[in-house]
Amino acid sequence: MLRRRALAGLLLAFAALPPRQAGAAVTAATLAAEEGDARLVLTLPAGARWRVTATARPRRLVVETPGSAWRGPQRLPAAGPVRGGRVEGGRLLLDLAVPVTIRRASETGGRLVIDIAPGTAAAFARLADRTLAEGGRPAASLPLVVLDPGHGGRDPGTIGRGGTQEKGIVLAAAQELKRVLEAGGRCRVAMTRSGDRFVPLGQRVEFARRRDAALFVSLHADSAPGARGASVYTLGEGSDALATALARRENLADRAGGLRLPSVPAEVQAILLSLMRAETRAGSARMARLVVEELGEDVPLLPNTHRNAGFVVLKAPEIPSVLVEMGFLSHPLDEAALRRPEHRAKVARALGRAINGWLARADRPEALAAAPG
Ligand SMILES: [Zn+2]
Repeated sequence: MLRRRALAGLLLAFAALPPRQAGAAVTAATLAAEEGDARLVLTLPAGARWRVTATARPRRLVVETPGSAWRGPQRLPAAGPVRGGRVEGGRLLLDLAVPVTIRRASETGGRLVIDIAPGTAAAFARLADRTLAEGGRPAASLPLVVLDPGHGGRDPGTIGRGGTQEKGIVLAAAQELKRVLEAGGRCRVAMTRSGDRFVPLGQRVEFARRRDAALFVSLHADSAPGARGASVYTLGEGSDALATALARRENLADRAGGLRLPSVPAEVQAILLSLMRAETRAGSARMARLVVEELGEDVPLLPNTHRNAGFVVLKAPEIPSVLVEMGFLSHPLDEAALRRPEHRAKVARALGRAINGWLARADRPEALAAAPG
């Protein structure tokens, strides 16, 4: 059986030049047909992180290697159920001719082997937008940033005059931001939704709390009559009518925003909560300042850019949280800008700088303690 692998004339090996600079990288990749399956082999540092996810539309597998740059080939030929591969944004995209399953995925000694076999459409549909396989050293020391693309599924969010749906724009922006952050290698990233799925507000907060997130960033592009430009919100009494109205509308997405605290006596709970909140508030405010600074470099801002509001998704008592309105889909100029991938990439890079800046300071408690507010 193994001998017949030689028949797979599709096997093409691309040995990349050795990287000039030190730094983790994928240095080679091959894709070969084998008994009707496809075998993907990546050469990367032993123990490096990797992950395979699936998307239904387009039907595709996505291979990511967070923390390792891609220095392998930019394209891979068709093999078995795989129509071909290409590298985009540091990830390998495998376009599929038919639904597939992962038969095997494991890494030893810097050789990651992923066997992809034809599967049923029903099984593949269940895999879409999920992680199928992953490995590598858990980067446990890296802080986790939770990105929360607003709305989803039956809740489209704001719909612009040109028909743009907020749920799609914020998901695309969050995915871009995730790529930016993972390429930076300073944090792990998780998303409260990675597809067009309705997630109740309370579950978004719980998602971050269960994972012990260091930072929670919610992304929106809502409507506000006449307003234009990006803005950022932290939890508080509504600082103005616009902020209050935005929060009220967002919170209507569901009413189950309750918080659960560990089972400790009520008085201990109250003390814990107020301590956490003071620190959390300071962390949220610092993040908001960085977001304003970085976004202001690149995109138009709403005057009075940092505002307070009672958004349910900002209510995790122990996790600094901000909600970024990347612009307002109710404004034709913002809508036109947010539809453009290049504009979203610009926003993502600015937010990436803010988040990395925030994390760099969070690593040094003395700097945090010295920070005002
Ligand atoms: Zn929204």
